[in-house]
Amino acid sequence: MHAETDLEVRKERMLSEHLLARGIRDAAVLRAMREVPRESFLPPEMARLAYEDSPLPIDAGQTISQPYIVAYMIEALELSGKERVLEIGTGSGYAAAVLSRCAAEVYTVERIPLLADGARNRLQSLGYSNVKVLHADGTLGWREQAPYDAIVVTAGAPEVPAELLEQLGPGGRLVIPVGPSQHLQNLVRVRRLPRGDFRREHLCAVRFVPLIGEQGWDDGPY
Ligand code: SAM
Repeated sequence: MHAETDLEVRKERMLSEHLLARGIRDAAVLRAMREVPRESFLPPEMARLAYEDSPLPIDAGQTISQPYIVAYMIEALELSGKERVLEIGTGSGYAAAVLSRCAAEVYTVERIPLLADGARNRLQSLGYSNVKVLHADGTLGWREQAPYDAIVVTAGAPEVPAELLEQLGPGGRLVIPVGPSQHLQNLVRVRRLPRGDFRREHLCAVRFVPLIGEQGWDDGPY
């Protein structure tokens, strides 16, 4: 089969077998997962695996998350399309691209310069003009652009960073993997109630690379 047709067939299978069959129902998320070409966010030798049901390696020893987890986390943010969203852990830029189809503005922070620069160039050349990329320690959020209607963290934290709670607007949702181990976490959703207090829910068990920084795990090699 022609490579492009083959990827389209695999993408449709991802939508029906990995997303719909597992309960993803948000129409905007499903549309975005169909629109955004995951293969364009992968190293060329990985492109043919773009619609497999798994995370994949990207540069600097990091990963692009499993499509189902990307869809699940974005659905959990309960977006209507009008929000300002902060993502911590840009990686390849794939989840930011999906988010950009489900929200008005996306701010994304990455601690590894190689990944931040790569994602910025990729998102720009693919036309995702409502995404801004910052190279910084995302455990401290992106204060200048706060408050956010929703925040998603795509790396595992020991605790919910206090700075991120502070940058969440009233009524906002924060979705973050949290756990005592660097490689196994609970996915948690924290809501900031209109009066300002927080309500925390456990969503499911997940496995993410560690969130490294001032309000995360201790520094690694970068
Ligand atoms: N969302 C990404 C994508 O779609 O490709 C996948 C993210 S990957 C699972 C987690 C990312 O979080 C890595 O790129 C890692 O460098 C980044 N990261 C870890 N600690 C961070 C921090 N304190 N601030 C910003 N990014 C961080």
